[in-house]
Amino acid sequence: MYDFKALYEAKSVDEAVRLRRGHPGARIIAGGSDVLIRIRNGKWAGAELISIHGIDALRGVKLEDDGTIRIGPLTSFSHLASDPVIGTHIPVLAEAANQVGSPQIRNIGTIGGNICNGSPAADTPPTLFVLDAQVELTGTEGARRVPVRDFYIRAGVVDLKPDELLTAVLVPGEAYRGYTGHYIKYAMREALDISVVSCSVNVKLTEDKKRIENVRAAFGAVGPVPLRTPGAEAAARGGETTERTVKAFASAVLGEISPWSDWRTSKAFREHIAEELAARALIRSIELGGGGIHA
Ligand SMILES: Cc1cc2nc3c(=O)[nH]c(=O)nc-3n(C[C@H](O)[C@H](O)[C@H](O)COP(=O)(O)OP(=O)(O)OC[C@H]3O[C@@H](n4cnc5c(N)ncnc54)[C@H](O)[C@@H]3O)c2cc1C
Repeated sequence: MYDFKALYEAKSVDEAVRLRRGHPGARIIAGGSDVLIRIRNGKWAGAELISIHGIDALRGVKLEDDGTIRIGPLTSFSHLASDPVIGTHIPVLAEAANQVGSPQIRNIGTIGGNICNGSPAADTPPTLFVLDAQVELTGTEGARRVPVRDFYIRAGVVDLKPDELLTAVLVPGEAYRGYTGHYIKYAMREALDISVVSCSVNVKLTEDKKRIENVRAAFGAVGPVPLRTPGAEAAARGGETTERTVKAFASAVLGEISPWSDWRTSKAFREHIAEELAARALIRSIELGGGGIHA
């Protein structure tokens, strides 16, 4: 049995916003894969819930005329992994979605819940960070857009006002056109385990494929929130596609992350893995872009 006080089922965004305003202490529930666990373990026992699961307009992926990819927050990981727009334009996001939990969690869990739970170890945020994604937040005052990297305040806390809900994730055309990317999750087990460290890299090569015109990198589980590593990006930007550039990029990451020791592993091991994942993700992104690594 789940101990919750009331369940309000919104059928539209307007109704969800009204319910948020009328029940300020209530929790939004989408797929429920985080919320129900918190209710069961007592953290959110007795909560009021506002379900947005029935708002079909918030589900699915659309390519807009200006090239922006609009992802509804209720889109499941399974949907993301097989969606043709995602597969054609940002396959690295499908790759990330495919590494979540188990088939059951991928069917029920949503991209909106993966962002709004504020977890530093969630699988889709590092890739959304490197895609310069924005989140659309809708409340009583209307909709506002915030870069996803500014949406995270601290571990478990995001910049969501009491009457707001996340209504879209937006990936601008200029952030993915000409780029190739790769996501790597390092976990202790192959399935049903959260990241020890994760890394997403996106690269644009010069026309001759010999240099890195631009690169963006982000990590999960190496600090209180997912983070970009601008110093490492600067170390590789403009560089030749050589082992030296890869090494400069990967070692610069170490100055920008702040991992911790816990029951899963030590800080030193996380640092080692972060450096290794950075190198591998950069090399694979370059290969996917038609380049190669030279000595
Ligand atoms: C067994 C298991 C394995 C898991 N493995 C992984 C894994 O490998 N990788 C991973 O990243 N995650 C994993 N998770 C965590 C979870 O499944 C994901 O974070 C998932 O994306 C949550 O989505 P949801 O729709 O179920 O969220 P919910 O539980 O419905 O909500 C999560 C949080 O987001 C808020 N929220 C949801 N949607 C919105 C919205 N549109 N607007 C505002 N707030 C919103 C809720 O209020 C709540 O605070 C796992 C969970 C379980 C139980």
